[in-house]
Amino acid sequence: MSRPETLADWQALAKSLSYETRAFIDDEFVPAESGETFATVNPATGETLAEVASCDAPDAERAVDHARAAFARGDWSRLAPGKRKRVLLRLADLMEAHQHELALLDTLDMGKPVSSSLGDMSGAIACFRYQAECIDKLYGEVAPTGEEALALVLREPLGVVASIVPWNFPLMMTAWKVAPALAAGNSVILKPSEKSPLSALRLASLAREAGLPRGVFQVLPGFGHTVGRALALSMGVDCLAFTGSTAVGKQLMKYAGDSNLKRLYLECGGKSPNLVFADCKDLDRVARHAAEAIFHNQGEVCIAGSRLLVENSVRETFIDGVIEAAAAMQPGDPLDPESFMGAMVDETQHRRVLDFIRRGREEGARLRTGGDALPGPGYFISPTVFDGVTPQMAIAREEIFGPVLAVFGFDSEEEAVAMANDSPYGLAAGLWSQDIDRIMRVTRRLESGQVFVNNWAGGDQTMPFGGVKQSGNGRDKSHHSLEEYSELKSVWMSLAT
Ligand code: NAD
Repeated sequence: MSRPETLADWQALAKSLSYETRAFIDDEFVPAESGETFATVNPATGETLAEVASCDAPDAERAVDHARAAFARGDWSRLAPGKRKRVLLRLADLMEAHQHELALLDTLDMGKPVSSSLGDMSGAIACFRYQAECIDKLYGEVAPTGEEALALVLREPLGVVASIVPWNFPLMMTAWKVAPALAAGNSVILKPSEKSPLSALRLASLAREAGLPRGVFQVLPGFGHTVGRALALSMGVDCLAFTGSTAVGKQLMKYAGDSNLKRLYLECGGKSPNLVFADCKDLDRVARHAAEAIFHNQGEVCIAGSRLLVENSVRETFIDGVIEAAAAMQPGDPLDPESFMGAMVDETQHRRVLDFIRRGREEGARLRTGGDALPGPGYFISPTVFDGVTPQMAIAREEIFGPVLAVFGFDSEEEAVAMANDSPYGLAAGLWSQDIDRIMRVTRRLESGQVFVNNWAGGDQTMPFGGVKQSGNGRDKSHHSLEEYSELKSVWMSLAT
């Protein structure tokens, strides 16, 4: 079909789709060994899309055995980097050729607007291309020794990497984990979220078509407490790369300690502060960006700008600007390319977000707009803004993962920085000001893995993405992520006697 552009085009494409629902193990699509399945549901309609293989420990064990066998065989792990590059570039081309289908799978599975999903596909494809291009440009080292030795520092793949990913950017989070791990020569087992497994399974067939050898890339759909736990506890997994909540990240640290001390990279939650100083030239424009920072992807974003800190002298008019921008961001049919927000991922998340809104009201915050669920079918919530939030309130401290903005006022730079840092999280922070001295001071003092100055969520493949504090310890994207998936081997070569 030609490029879908209208709601009707996307609806027609959705009707024509078929879903791969089986696990991908050792180059074959197979049911879970138990025969169990789980339903994946379209949250915009409440309809079941498909019954998907529900993998568990025996499937994990089988996949790990095949991954280890592939690694030992060496047709990927020892392949020249330039050849691995060609296969991954082929995969990126196939993803591009199928980007509308892949985008649609994510939209149907988790409710985000299709225009956002298309943006995710560009990000996922760019990630595969960047990592593929990096791998034959990453050199080892020769250590500065005397002439009596030649001392080499070699980079080698780790072995078997298990990637466990969330549902909010299903294929893009997958790409951020899988592309560098494959590029470095590892065997990779992917466990997508049980709320959004479909695009990962489609990726598996494209990976096979691109020429990845058998057992090098496998996909195990299923739940966290079953197949996810089994991978995390496996003695045959050398590295666990996780994106998800801080609570599960802490659990995975225990699993790693209880098993083989596998390497563990965690990309976890956030409660990101967005600081607006009164000296900004165009506060209306900043207000629109502040609204986008929280309402993009229905607020289901790890780096959502969920705490808005505004200098008190401009706070009232600034909030009016945010409310005006929010009015134009009401949720709509995710298949409509004009929709800015879609549906919450499922009934549980819908209920959870509404519960936070209720607590915000009960704890005395002032609801300025939104706060409602839209009539069903589907799990929609209007963009919600609370003012008069104090630091102890639940909506000020906890990651809501929904379209709920908490606004605070401040009078001084010191107060703003202290409030921004008063969080167990440290994933992202935004800073809007024209004062270069202030920008330099505040940027350095913010406890955050990334700081956006006069923008929100800026970055491309060249920039690492990750957090500090309880937001995690890993870095996705850029050559830094590629380096995480390789081991250093020190080789000291003496003169032959
Ligand atoms: P989640 O932690 O519930 O689940 C994430 C993944 O872990 C899923 O695949 C799930 O099945 C699996 N899992 C759950 N319990 C497990 C267990 N005991 N053992 C092994 N695996 C287990 O998170 P979610 O609801 O899917 O995603 C939302 C969270 O992800 C938010 O906290 C968000 O901030 C975070 N996130 C972080 C980033 C980042 O880059 N830092 C990016 C996107 C999302």
